[in-house]
Amino acid sequence: MNSFQDFALADPIARALSEENYVTPTPIQAQTIPLALAGRDVVGIAQTGTGKTAAFALPILHRLLQNRIKPQPKTARVLVLSPTRELSGQILDSFNAYGRHLRLTSTLTIGGVPMGRQVRALMPGVEVLVATPGRLLDLVQSNGLKLNQVEFLVLDEADRMLDMGFINDIRKIVAKLPVKRQTFFFSATMPKDIAELAEAMLRDPARVAVTPVATTADRVTQRIIQVDHSNKPAFLAQLLKQETVDRALIFTRTKHGADKVVKGLERAGIRAAAIHGNKSQNHRERVLAAFRSGEVRTLVATDIAARGIDVDGISHVVNFDLPNVPETYVHRIGRTARAGADGIAISLVAGGEEMGYLRDIERLIRMALPREDRRTPGSREAAPAAAQQQQHHRGGRPAPRPHGGRSHDSAPPAKGPRRPRRGGGNKAAQQTNREPNRSPQGGGKTEGLQGVAFLHRESRPNHRPNNRNQRPN
Ligand code: AMP
Repeated sequence: MNSFQDFALADPIARALSEENYVTPTPIQAQTIPLALAGRDVVGIAQTGTGKTAAFALPILHRLLQNRIKPQPKTARVLVLSPTRELSGQILDSFNAYGRHLRLTSTLTIGGVPMGRQVRALMPGVEVLVATPGRLLDLVQSNGLKLNQVEFLVLDEADRMLDMGFINDIRKIVAKLPVKRQTFFFSATMPKDIAELAEAMLRDPARVAVTPVATTADRVTQRIIQVDHSNKPAFLAQLLKQETVDRALIFTRTKHGADKVVKGLERAGIRAAAIHGNKSQNHRERVLAAFRSGEVRTLVATDIAARGIDVDGISHVVNFDLPNVPETYVHRIGRTARAGADGIAISLVAGGEEMGYLRDIERLIRMALPREDRRTPGSREAAPAAAQQQQHHRGGRPAPRPHGGRSHDSAPPAKGPRRPRRGGGNKAAQQTNREPNRSPQGGGKTEGLQGVAFLHRESRPNHRPNNRNQRPN
């Protein structure tokens, strides 16, 4: 399946997808959507960042539309269970984005916020309900919700739900659901206890999988350079002049950022080109051909645009901005050191937010990356968070984030700025825990990469979901 058109999704859904700039299905979508449209139960091994939300949400919406009935009071037609409030909120956002032309009724029931509004939102019945297990059971037990009309059940990040102690809640919930339903079960890993849970919940399931991202690429030398934010453009130009660059792929978080970086480089006399979602297909092909041939040696890209780039001989990957999804970092740096070559990955990190992203990355790859501090002395003093961070890493693995390892969704909401993307620190920490021991610190090298197309939520055009009144904070 090379295009979403191949799935023949209902027109309002297809329209929403093109507004979201989705053209090509990701591997998990290509595998899952046809099976799901045919009504099969699906068990999938896939992580956040692979596009798995759309893999279940799109066929569910399509099937809802085929039999559009008004939900009965206090019921839901679709129930999605997810381990955390953040993930639940993002799944609801996705349903609302893909269903924006459907007048979808949807809501969120999660712990840590008062129940009254959630009870009221469920009163008339909804088509899509996204929930964390603890709060869902509370609502069922207090007669705010009946589960006997659920036609579609999704368990997302099942392994994480088990890790968080939700197994009994899940069993109780599933026991209350109609036997006749379509079930989707996604997990990043499939150890025996998870496989058994799936076995008990699914009917003759089809199996899908995408290779998980394991660790950072072998043979990639990773460097972190701390620079002042305002100094990044000049620093990048200087860096590219100093290094022996065959081909450099520079990543920015936004399309606008990519264009700005190109302008800055050109002013400094470095020929560069950008590819991102706002460029025409023609332009992208031309630029890629020039990059492949070596005519342009510096390419600036956003994550989604870079998905289609399959170019050998990239000697340098430069993260002009650090990604806020740690898996994206692994995917980015895997663009260099291909086909047996060595590669260098350099990340320019300013203080504040980016230090948090760096912490998440280091936790995912289980190593502290070597740092060079090139900030101006004044700003160094002005950035105590960054200084603390360095100390924090001395002699060991990064410590857990203060709000990591939460054991139940009714815990109070995490403090601090909300990360715009799902699967942040907690997820990374948990993956890390499960991973076998990796190479020691220093030298910036680790073991092999099992690449997979990880996607970046930032590239989605801004949208306000139309029914998010139940979000906390
Ligand atoms: P997920 O793994 O479901 O969290 O998706 C990761 C990110 O990729 C989200 O920002 C999605 O909006 C985006 N995304 C998912 N599928 C596609 C696609 N086929 N093309 C472009 N972006 C996508």
